[in-house]
Amino acid sequence: MPEDVPENCEVCGDSMDANHNANCALCGRIFHLTWDTRLPIRDCGRFDIDEESLALYFTCNDCVAKRPQAAPGPA
Ligand SMILES: [Zn+2]
Ligand SMILES: [Zn+2]
Repeated sequence: MPEDVPENCEVCGDSMDANHNANCALCGRIFHLTWDTRLPIRDCGRFDIDEESLALYFTCNDCVAKRPQAAPGPA
């Protein structure tokens, strides 16, 4: 369980929703992320699957911009 959710998103600075956030695997910041696209919550990052470990990990928009990755597609 997340224990140290900041009051504000560390990426966009808006107020944080304690139930919809994620921790960036690259920079460690906590940002808005919701699994439910029906909710009017902005996403300040995204989630990906690590190809080697098949583990789910999160990347904030800042890190996505620094390290653009091609969308998953046929090998
Ligand atoms: Zn945010
Ligand atoms: Zn990051």
